[in-house]
Amino acid sequence: MTPEVHFAASYADARARFLAASLDAGARVRRRIHPERGPDGETLAVDVARLCPANSRRVVVIVSATHGAEGFCGSGVQTGLLAERDAPRPHAPDTALVLIHAINPFGFAWLSRTTHENVDLNRNFVDHRAGAWPANPGYDELAGAIVLAEWSDAAKAEADRRLDAYGEAHSQFALQGAISISQWSHPDGAFYGGRAATWSLRALEAICCDELASARHAVLLDFHTGLGPRGYGKPISCHAPDSAADRRAREILGSEVTNPAAGNSTSAAVMGTLDDGIAFAAPWAEWTSLALEFGVVPVKDTLDAIRADAWLASDRKSTSHTARAIRQRMRETFYGDDAEWKARVWALGSDFAARAFTALERL
Ligand SMILES: [Zn+2]
Repeated sequence: MTPEVHFAASYADARARFLAASLDAGARVRRRIHPERGPDGETLAVDVARLCPANSRRVVVIVSATHGAEGFCGSGVQTGLLAERDAPRPHAPDTALVLIHAINPFGFAWLSRTTHENVDLNRNFVDHRAGAWPANPGYDELAGAIVLAEWSDAAKAEADRRLDAYGEAHSQFALQGAISISQWSHPDGAFYGGRAATWSLRALEAICCDELASARHAVLLDFHTGLGPRGYGKPISCHAPDSAADRRAREILGSEVTNPAAGNSTSAAVMGTLDDGIAFAAPWAEWTSLALEFGVVPVKDTLDAIRADAWLASDRKSTSHTARAIRQRMRETFYGDDAEWKARVWALGSDFAARAFTALERL
């Protein structure tokens, strides 16, 4: 079988393929049903498949669809890992593979980056009880230009001029950071971290209790798309630079691992990411966490699509021509839906998983 066949056409298709492959592989599956429905009335759920014993001390955790519409990539690799006869698998008897399929199923199904609460899940894992959400003055300055009040070519052109001026005054990377680093002041904006735990955050906490109670060493691979050259996979460590966990991350995936906090990544250093959340939810395990970014289109086009997605948040389920065009654009922005892209993602993604098993079993 060519592994590209595991990449789906929609969330519903992805879920069906993942569940069928789980059954064939003899994986134990648990699910958490989401309160909303998909565009065709389909059930939305986080499905968790587990290979190997429940009491494993070593666990590789692979997550897809943290950013909803990016889910095609990670879902394809997860299903391939279950279905392909030659796929990497745990070797040692106390090593498990836990596949968390579509942690943000609403965003995956509706081709949005956010959750149904309009929250960027990969900014939501902060201590909400402390009530001290960080300020982002750059976003505040540009908020009206990042997400348009009205959808028109003239308004878009004027907004782009403001963003370009900011980029020229500071730098393109500073502009990318101001937009994407995270913000807690504009609930209707982009990259909004939310001022309360989302449904998906709660689901992840519950999954940690279900699946990771006996884990002592855990590797997280969180699949994303939208940064880097098309089809290329970039591993990103969000641990403190040169901490023990950061060094383990580089031991697993080599010198190509970048670290935003060390200033050598295409990603801005963001807060409230899923790796923080999973380590907080399962603090008894020693975590080595990597976000894997697979490129699709140039970053400026990616940011433009995210701005359109944020504009649609006030009427997420609209069936208007504009809404359908924005969702289609999100799909094309975050899913390289051709055989070459899928083959490259599978080759790199399955290799990352293989290296995670090998490294974990040395601990
Ligand atoms: Zn992402």
